Amino acid sequence: MTPGRIYYCRLPSGRLGSYTEHSVESLLAGCEDLGDCRLWRGYVGNGTPLVYDFASDKMVSVRRLIREILGQTVQTGNYYPSSCGDPLCVAPEHTISRTQRLHAKAMNRALSESPATEQIRRAKISTAKRLLSDEQISEIISSDEDGPTVAARLGVSRSTVSKYRRGERGVYRAANPWAALLMPGAAR
Ligand SMILES: [Zn+2]
Repeated sequence: MTPGRIYYCRLPSGRLGSYTEHSVESLLAGCEDLGDCRLWRGYVGNGTPLVYDFASDKMVSVRRLIREILGQTVQTGNYYPSSCGDPLCVAPEHTISRTQRLHAKAMNRALSESPATEQIRRAKISTAKRLLSDEQISEIISSDEDGPTVAARLGVSRSTVSKYRRGERGVYRAANPWAALLMPGAAR
């Protein structure tokens, strides 16, 4: 490990002190190696690895700082996320540069692919699948085949079949949900 240069300066507190200039080695030294990834174990703000930079007296992005030290282009307003998908990874080889506009786009995409969104999507599909025709429902109930066979043939889940067979479902499907409203006297 090559330590960075030592600087003597007046610390933000007003006291005289010294600090070691950040180097790629010193920044990566505290990281946990996971495959090719270097997972930051220091301070994280807003999901991004941050480190105190004495020179600017600010918390700065570790990925951005490593790029700067390596002499790679760093632009104000650009984002430097990790390409491997781990937000804590600060491996220089996994750091990519994105403009603000592309970053917002990527964030939106990640959000739409998030597990929560996926669950909602699946729930909608399964709700749609529950709407079986009357013929299909009577087939489920009256068929001599076992549950898994009927389920596979009709393209529904096994639990849907067993729910219909146990009578847990089907009652509501058979009843007209508007019946109460159509009944004489139901109107205000
Ligand atoms: Zn990585």
